[in-house]
Amino acid sequence: MRKLVFLAGIVGLSMACTPKTEVDILIKNASVIELKSGQIISSQVVLIQGDSIFQIGGDSLLSQYSGKTEIDAESQFLMPGLWDNHVHFGGAEYVDENEQLLPLFLAFGVTSVRDAAGDIPLEVLKWKSEINSGNRIGPRIFTSGPKIEGINSVWPGDLEIGTEAELDFALDSLEKLNVDFVKITDNTLSAELFLSATQKAKARGWSVSGHVHPGITLDEISKAGLTTIEHQGYLLRAATSEENRIRDEKLSNKLSPAEANQLQFNTLNDSVAEAKFRQFASQGTRIVPTLLISYNIAYLDSLDFSTDTIQDYLGPKLKESYQWRIDRYALEDSTSRKNRKMQFEASARLLPLVQKSGMKIMAGTDAGYLNTYDYPGLAIHRELALMVKYGLSPLEALQASMINGPAYFGLEKEYGAVEAGKKASLVLLNKNPLENIENTLSIESVIVEGKYFSRKDLDRMLSKIKAWVKEKEAN
Ligand SMILES: [Zn+2]
Repeated sequence: MRKLVFLAGIVGLSMACTPKTEVDILIKNASVIELKSGQIISSQVVLIQGDSIFQIGGDSLLSQYSGKTEIDAESQFLMPGLWDNHVHFGGAEYVDENEQLLPLFLAFGVTSVRDAAGDIPLEVLKWKSEINSGNRIGPRIFTSGPKIEGINSVWPGDLEIGTEAELDFALDSLEKLNVDFVKITDNTLSAELFLSATQKAKARGWSVSGHVHPGITLDEISKAGLTTIEHQGYLLRAATSEENRIRDEKLSNKLSPAEANQLQFNTLNDSVAEAKFRQFASQGTRIVPTLLISYNIAYLDSLDFSTDTIQDYLGPKLKESYQWRIDRYALEDSTSRKNRKMQFEASARLLPLVQKSGMKIMAGTDAGYLNTYDYPGLAIHRELALMVKYGLSPLEALQASMINGPAYFGLEKEYGAVEAGKKASLVLLNKNPLENIENTLSIESVIVEGKYFSRKDLDRMLSKIKAWVKEKEAN
């Protein structure tokens, strides 16, 4: 008996003396959310070295490793950082206010953003490379640079083209800017050039994103190579077997816009929609629903944004840029307001059909300048909640943000899971988001590419932004 106690003493002693390997960050007792399966693995130890997850496993790792920073994640949930797959940096007169959005995104657990064009592409590209090289704090940025449009479009700062030669020149300049994807919109661009821009951008190896030109059916643009349709509303066009007829008769003025709308609503058909979504999926086309902006605008007369304290963290000019939609709404009569709501409800309820069809959904918000009450940082949390409200499970909503986002850029090896070898861009939550999607807001800490921010750090970051805004508003 005495011998045994003695032996145990030696074993204990020798274990205590084995030098531990030190890693940059050690997280213990974490409940890790496996985004692929929806399973939660409890009591996990996660080791982070540099910008990546080095190893993950059970408590036995604790006897071999220590961390320069050690985090006890007891009763907390660890998941990849959020991806907002549709934001806008913009407003050439208030670049400084956009700059403040970078820490704001982080404070809300958003570790990657996909910037879908604005009028300050050079600044965005500069921030992107500063963040990548560790010289600036912010989410990882993916940007389209300036978008492709027709001549004299309403959008400032876009690349306006009227001929094939100009299109080639525009694509050359996007190549020089080294943008991550190409965005095309339809304000004044012709249907022919829209199709051609999609094909040519795709041929140069880019993912192509865009609105859908009224002269082109969704299947035509999908076949031409559009990788993402931005905004759920467009999917309504494909939810009827009359899509071609409505397009043709609208273009030839046989149908007024109101009549075309009516015909569209009268012929909506779920099985037609699902079959088409399946077709788009097989052609590699995805959807970024951006439900939040359409919801905010459709219900502008009943939603109360006055208690949104996040407004204290947004610059005055950025908030002023919200006004145009508010003014426009004020001029709309009750019929057009009713139509907005109908349009929103009809398109949002297609979401589970899209999911069922296999067409990939990417969670994005349209947050940024001009997009009323669509607050950078907070927006993705509201978007995910809307996705759940309209029929996705919390897990599916999270997958749309953190798995489908990186997959779009071919980065599924680096992101999308809490696994060894993946980037250490993570969020630690106090409550389980699979039980209630609003729990994505219960942020305890954020790690972005290996840089750790405790709740205290995040609060300090927020106070600094708030003070900056106050100062700006005073001047
Ligand atoms: Zn947008």
